[in-house]
Amino acid sequence: MALAFDEFGRPFIILREQDQKTRLRGIDAQKANIAAGKAVARILRSSLGPKGMDKMLQGPDGDVTITNDGAAILEQMDVDNQIAKLMVELSRSQDYEIGDGTTGVVVMAGALLEQAERQLDRGIHPIRVAEGYEMASRVAVEHLERISQKFEFDVDNFEPLVKTCMTTLSSKIVNRCKRSLAEIAVKAVLAVADLERRDVNLDLIKVEGKVGGNLEDTELIYGILVDKDMSHPQMPKQIEDAHIAILTCPFEPPKPKTKHKVDIDTVEKFETLRKQEQQYFDEMVQKCKDVGATLVICQWGFDDEANHLLMHRNLPAVRWVGGVELELIAIATGGRIVPRFQELTPEKLGKAGMVREKSFGTTKERMLYIEHCANSKAVTIFIRGGNKMMIEETKRSIHDALCVARNLIRNKSIVYGGGAAEIACSLAVDAAADKYPGVEQYAIRAFAEALDSVPMALAENSGLQPIETLSAVKSQQLKENIPFYGIDCNDVGTNDMREQNVFETLIGKQQQILLATQVVKMILKIDDVISNSEY
Ligand code: ADP
Repeated sequence: MALAFDEFGRPFIILREQDQKTRLRGIDAQKANIAAGKAVARILRSSLGPKGMDKMLQGPDGDVTITNDGAAILEQMDVDNQIAKLMVELSRSQDYEIGDGTTGVVVMAGALLEQAERQLDRGIHPIRVAEGYEMASRVAVEHLERISQKFEFDVDNFEPLVKTCMTTLSSKIVNRCKRSLAEIAVKAVLAVADLERRDVNLDLIKVEGKVGGNLEDTELIYGILVDKDMSHPQMPKQIEDAHIAILTCPFEPPKPKTKHKVDIDTVEKFETLRKQEQQYFDEMVQKCKDVGATLVICQWGFDDEANHLLMHRNLPAVRWVGGVELELIAIATGGRIVPRFQELTPEKLGKAGMVREKSFGTTKERMLYIEHCANSKAVTIFIRGGNKMMIEETKRSIHDALCVARNLIRNKSIVYGGGAAEIACSLAVDAAADKYPGVEQYAIRAFAEALDSVPMALAENSGLQPIETLSAVKSQQLKENIPFYGIDCNDVGTNDMREQNVFETLIGKQQQILLATQVVKMILKIDDVISNSEY
């Protein structure tokens, strides 16, 4: 605060901006930041692994989400603290790049922060810790490359891919159906994959859900799904080799746009008007038939009489289809959207191998399946489930499985899960620490210990004795020099993750280590936190 005078000599007080702010410096800043990061990691720790717990989150308008997905949990948590936001960002970037391992990356970062705190307490400068972590992460990433294995599969033998997706799904709420969901995810990815360029455009896979039925009823549709039905119940429910007219103009006689009045004073006049309308409509139907359309999909409606006529003339039709869906149908079937009736020509029709209507349950719910489309490889995964929460969680889990399959098509290397890769890296990093003469070696050892926290969390969450289990597995790996031993979370009776078929992708694991190290380094390098005291 300072006292000053204006040009008339009147005193006024200047409140410096700094006075409204709080400030933390040096070691206090680092400690506070580490505490915030650890707090976020602690929340996710219990969700890691096949026996991990789920979280229930309530949104601002009262909607409830139950999930096991790290990115989804953090996304919905309303965090104020800036460092906590960094952790949310961390999980998001893992989700964006890889799609899986979003819980693991935060648990890893939390463990690195915890170890860093110990090093700071010992009096080691944060920069030394950050540098040590950087060196250790390089060792770990290289070691992962060394212990990774090539994973062979092709379009006819995709069983190995299914197994990897099953590992991802086994830690989710939907693990009851992991086999069928994994198969669906792999088939969907293979359907849209460009195996020569080794790339997959996941945008071509649409994931839709509808409440009702069982999770087991979830299916893969080689085409698209529209939440609509045929306009008349007596129209055919199945059309093979469909030629589709996609219309955005109303299927009815044109109406004057301004106000108008029709004077009808005799029955004859009314009759002629009616006939004329009918004839007009008849011509429209004829036009569609002439160009060869066997199905009409219309953005607008038509009245009951027109509907009846369509049924009579054997031209199935779907009405009130939304603009977005219409576009999707046009893209997939290679058709053109026709805004004016006169412009309808045979080459503008979309083509699909099969269009069928399917009804669900005892309700009147019907959906239209447009399959084997001419132009596109687009597929749809149609999820069924008892309630909306289940469907949403299944969507998130399927997303993870799709990402894993895509990653394997991009890069065929895998490492073993259940903490096996982390334990192997921990041993390698610990051994490398001795080679560094400087203070960094403490940080490198700390990094090795942080790596142990992932298998430890897996053991803890599965109800095992964490330290005992970890040390047993570690000594087994060391003794036999085999990096496949991990935590037997499901109590199968063997620690060999090869036998249990628990894989993870190499790029996913490497990304986890790199991202976690990056964020922790960033947090350690902050030595001044200036924040508004109102918050
Ligand atoms: P994330 O969101 O990080 O993928 P998950 O909750 O899916 O977190 O847990 C993934 C961890 O669980 C990985 O370390 C994986 O290796 C491990 N895991 C998955 N299935 C098994 C299993 N059957 N046995 C042991 N570990 C498993």
